[in-house]
Amino acid sequence: MHDSHIHLARNPLRDNWKRDTQDFINMNGKKILTQGSDVEDFNDTFQVAHKINQKFGDIVDIALGIHPTIFQENFCKDNCDNIFNGSKKLLTRFVEIFEQEKDKLSAVGETGLDYFEMYNTKVDGELIETLKQVQKESFRVHIKLAKENNLPLSIHARELPDKTDCINDVLELVAKNGKGLVNGSFHSYTGELSLVSDILDLGFCIGFNAIITYPNGENVREILKKVPNDRILFETDGPFLAVQSIRKDKKALIRYGRSAQIKEIIEIAAEIKNMPAQKLEDISDENYERVFG
Ligand SMILES: [Zn+2]
Repeated sequence: MHDSHIHLARNPLRDNWKRDTQDFINMNGKKILTQGSDVEDFNDTFQVAHKINQKFGDIVDIALGIHPTIFQENFCKDNCDNIFNGSKKLLTRFVEIFEQEKDKLSAVGETGLDYFEMYNTKVDGELIETLKQVQKESFRVHIKLAKENNLPLSIHARELPDKTDCINDVLELVAKNGKGLVNGSFHSYTGELSLVSDILDLGFCIGFNAIITYPNGENVREILKKVPNDRILFETDGPFLAVQSIRKDKKALIRYGRSAQIKEIIEIAAEIKNMPAQKLEDISDENYERVFG
C-alpha cells in the first residue's frame, strides 16, 4: 500500500506524523510521496520526512514543486501588478533550492495548471490570461527539471466543469517539453473521460483518491474503469479529501485525509475493477516503485 500524493508539511498531518505513519504501517503501508507546493513549505516538508524516515525506516519520498494556484495566492491579493516579477523571483528561488536538494528528491511536483481556481475566486477577466501564462511558464520549468534530472512529475490539472482547455494545455506542454522522456502521475484527475487515453499515451499513471468513495464521484469511477491496472496509483491528497466513511461518521475523531485511508480507497477501487483488493494493492505498489522508486 502506498500514498502517492499527500502534503505532510500541512497540519494536522505535520503534528500527527507519528500516529498517522504508525497507522499506515499497521495496514501494510509501504511508501508515501509527500508534495512540496511552495518554497514556504519546503523546510517543513524535509523536516517531517526526515523525522518519519528516522523513526520508521525509509517510508517517505519527497517531491518538490510550486503548486499552480500559488501564483494567484501570492501575487494577486490586492492587485496583480507584481505578478510577472514576483513569479519570476519565486521560480528562480525554487530552481535554486531544487538544485541544492535534488539528491533527496524522488519527483518534481506538485506542478501543472489550474484553470478552476482563477474563475472560482473571480479573478478579473484580463488577469486570467496573465495567470495562465505564468502557470505555463512555471510548468515548463518543472518539466525541464524533471527531464534533466530523470525524475517523474506529479501533475495537478484542474479544469472548469465541462471544459478541456486546461488538460489539453497540460498535455501539450508535457509532449512539447518532455519529448517523451518524462513520466509520472496525473494526480486526482477529474476531467473529461475522453482525454484519459491521451494521458495514458504520454506514458503517465493516474492517481486515484477518496473521490472514488464519494456519492458524486461517478465521473472518476468511470475514469478508473478505463485505466489499465498497470497505470493506477493511489493517493489521499491529505490533509484534504477524507474518505466517505469518515465524512459520513459525525463522531469520527480523525477527520482529515491521511495515508491509512488508502485501505478504503483500494477496497472501493477493487470493487469497481472487479478484482481482489490485495491484487490491486500489489499491482499499484509495483506501479509506484516503477514510477517513483
Ligand atoms: Zn496536492
